[in-house]
Amino acid sequence: MVGMKEHDTDLATRIVHHDYVPPAGFVAPQPGVYKASTVIFPNVAAMRSREWKDKSGYTYGLHGTPTTFILEERLCALEGGLQCVLVPSGLAAIANVALALLQPGDEVLIPDNAYGPGKDLANGELARFGITHGFYDPLDPADLAARITPATRLVWLEAPGSVSMEFPDLCEQVRICRAHGVTTALDNTWGAGLAFAPFDLTGDGSLGVDVSAHALTKYPSGGGDVLMGSVMTRDPGLHMKIKLTHMRLGLGVGANDAEFVLRALPSIGLRYRAHDEAARTLARWLQQQPAIVQVLHPALEGAPGHAHWKALCGARQVGAGQAAGLFSVMIDARYTQKQVDAFCDGLRLFKLGYSWGGPMSLVVPYNIASMRSRPPAHLKPGTLVRFSIGLEAVEDLRRDLQQALEHAFPAG
Ligand SMILES: *Cc1c(COP(=O)(O)O)cnc(C)c1O
Repeated sequence: MVGMKEHDTDLATRIVHHDYVPPAGFVAPQPGVYKASTVIFPNVAAMRSREWKDKSGYTYGLHGTPTTFILEERLCALEGGLQCVLVPSGLAAIANVALALLQPGDEVLIPDNAYGPGKDLANGELARFGITHGFYDPLDPADLAARITPATRLVWLEAPGSVSMEFPDLCEQVRICRAHGVTTALDNTWGAGLAFAPFDLTGDGSLGVDVSAHALTKYPSGGGDVLMGSVMTRDPGLHMKIKLTHMRLGLGVGANDAEFVLRALPSIGLRYRAHDEAARTLARWLQQQPAIVQVLHPALEGAPGHAHWKALCGARQVGAGQAAGLFSVMIDARYTQKQVDAFCDGLRLFKLGYSWGGPMSLVVPYNIASMRSRPPAHLKPGTLVRFSIGLEAVEDLRRDLQQALEHAFPAG
């Protein structure tokens, strides 16, 4: 209440204008959480001159606060980006990229095994604005190359596809797009900045994607309780296009959600490694079970794209920590959908639910045929079930799978 004596004002006014000085000399492991729609300027000149686009000043909550700026910086450290915007979900990250980089007459290419709602965005929204799309075979770089036309402005990449788990030759895909002058955007939710470096795929700084979109909802949150996404770049011009669209669409995130992600980030490496280790143990065990005809886990020998996974992620570190906690199985075609549903219903620790990256193991049965433009020859006939492995004791999860398998698919 600068310039006003306390007795001049009513209690209601004094509560709103209570002099608050941010704590000087207070340092703690966690950064402070700053909540604001309104940001106060000291004078009109500052209000007129302050710039939000380059983060040199704070102007409005939607344009960033100290809390969102620090989260953006930490995510850049994780994924190797230089600029980042935060959005309310992973899907909003995909939408932000599309709306920033595409215009009528342009075409976007999407891997046939891509995250489904991203395809729905192209079908249901982009198409209305005269932006066309096509689907390419994620395991055949020649197919991608053949589909690029002069109208192709953006190619989405996903390593691996988050339901059927094929791991593409990401380096070759990026090389093809570069040779055609097409922008690449990777859905990096699975890799999370830990399995491989999206902006430095070859480790010598010579090859990387242009844009990395990330559903922070998954591993960065780690709790199954936050929805958030990020769009990261290493090119100021590209970032500015994304940022301007971000601002015009009114995208932003809540300070408390940013706080949750900031709190969870220090343990992301430990969690990712634990999810990975448990998932590989269970995937290998499931390979031995008679009802399962195929295990789709990129780190397992014989899985679709395993060699590409090994080339990109295998060298980064020894042991677990390069393959997330997600995999799928094909249940033998001799079993009915009803039996597969009974298997999923019969699990006690694995809960039925979408998303992944949280502490609780999840299961979802998928109708893979309805999700693809062309039936993938590398998938054995059967019914696909996807598991997200949480942080429970692995032996408890294995026993749960065993009892549900025995009940749903009796031997003989
Ligand atoms: C979950 C997910 C998204 C979308 O994230 P939301 O925050 O749920 O919108 C995008 N891509 C992949 C690969 C995902 O797994």
